[in-house]
Amino acid sequence: MSFDLKKIREEFPILQQKIYNRPLVYFDNAATTQRPQQVIDALIRTYTEYYGNIHRAAHFLADKATLAYEETREKVRKLINAETREQIIFTKGTTESINLAAFSFGEAFIHEGDEIIVSEMEHHSNIVPWQLMAGRKGAKIVMLPIDDEGRLLIENMETLITPRTKLIAVAHISNVLGTINPIRQITQIAHSKGIRIFIDGAQAAAHLRIDIQDLDVDFYAFSAHKMYGPNGVGVLYGKKELLEQLPPYQGGGEMISEVKFSGTTYNELPYKFEAGTPNISGVIAFGAAIDYLENLGIENAAARETELLNYATAELSQIPGLRIYGTQSEKSGVISFNVDGVHFFDLGTMLDKFGIAVRTGRHCTDPLMDHFDIQGTVRASFAFYNTKEEIDVFIEALKKVISMF
Ligand code: PMP
Repeated sequence: MSFDLKKIREEFPILQQKIYNRPLVYFDNAATTQRPQQVIDALIRTYTEYYGNIHRAAHFLADKATLAYEETREKVRKLINAETREQIIFTKGTTESINLAAFSFGEAFIHEGDEIIVSEMEHHSNIVPWQLMAGRKGAKIVMLPIDDEGRLLIENMETLITPRTKLIAVAHISNVLGTINPIRQITQIAHSKGIRIFIDGAQAAAHLRIDIQDLDVDFYAFSAHKMYGPNGVGVLYGKKELLEQLPPYQGGGEMISEVKFSGTTYNELPYKFEAGTPNISGVIAFGAAIDYLENLGIENAAARETELLNYATAELSQIPGLRIYGTQSEKSGVISFNVDGVHFFDLGTMLDKFGIAVRTGRHCTDPLMDHFDIQGTVRASFAFYNTKEEIDVFIEALKKVISMF
């Protein structure tokens, strides 16, 4: 490996602690990652050195905060290779990004009888906002199914698409199955029929190198807290000609050009979509997280996570009665599983007593749970700072827990 794991782990203070007197094994990275000291420092520095409300006052602190905030916008633009900074809209997370896109796109383009295709493996946050919009507009949601390996049935798309299909919403990576979806292929099919494409990149942005121009998607959303950054910050990317056609999502300060009781005009992109005081310190510290990731190399991080995924999958596969959900070859470092005769919740609770943090439950994916006819799973998800030794501890603890039942 081209990076120093010991040094990297030391950069994450939270990883140093013991839980129930055992070293913490943090395998809940798909829910939220941990932060390196330089991100924590950036937050503290903002509050102690240059905190002021951005874009508004002509004083030193506000200017400095504005510069730092806008610097992060440029870092995000570079990170995903977007054409312009106007296409990077800060939100409070992927969920808000999807709600924004669904609302504004719906207002501009959706009419009664129109259809939106949403995949079966989506997180609730990439289903419900589209349903809300469809309900308002009299539109219909159509499900794009998966197979039992957790692969999207892309070949079904042609039959699901009708002249009324206006948008397809798909995750780049599934938060349960780990499946990496073939976004370029889906986009090509969609665009050949004049259909817009929305990608939920919550699980992808820290684990894949995103080239938004190459993917050619119309919208892309992600959250800083899953990228070693602060929580409460997210991004919505959109094609410029599309964003320009959309009405604002929320009204308030910043998003306006001129307000009169006879009518209001709106600010230019991206401010049209950033009403009110945003998460100033969070966005600034997100810049530090992007620096961290770029310095480390997303490709290096991804290679390491794949190594951990392969090692853990091989070990877990040897445990009798254990079933893994999501067995596609194109997969990121997420393993969801169940063990015959042991409830996932019991497994998670007992693993916690060994200092191991995994997630249990439905992972905000009811339709996916219904597909597999299950109530939930245990999910272990890896980041570059995890180690093979931690996987050994996890496997050993898992075997012990299973033997108790
Ligand atoms: N989509 C996916 C695939 C996710 O994994 C998550 C987070 N669990 C979300 C959307 C929602 O992200 P957030 O809670 O940061 O808004």
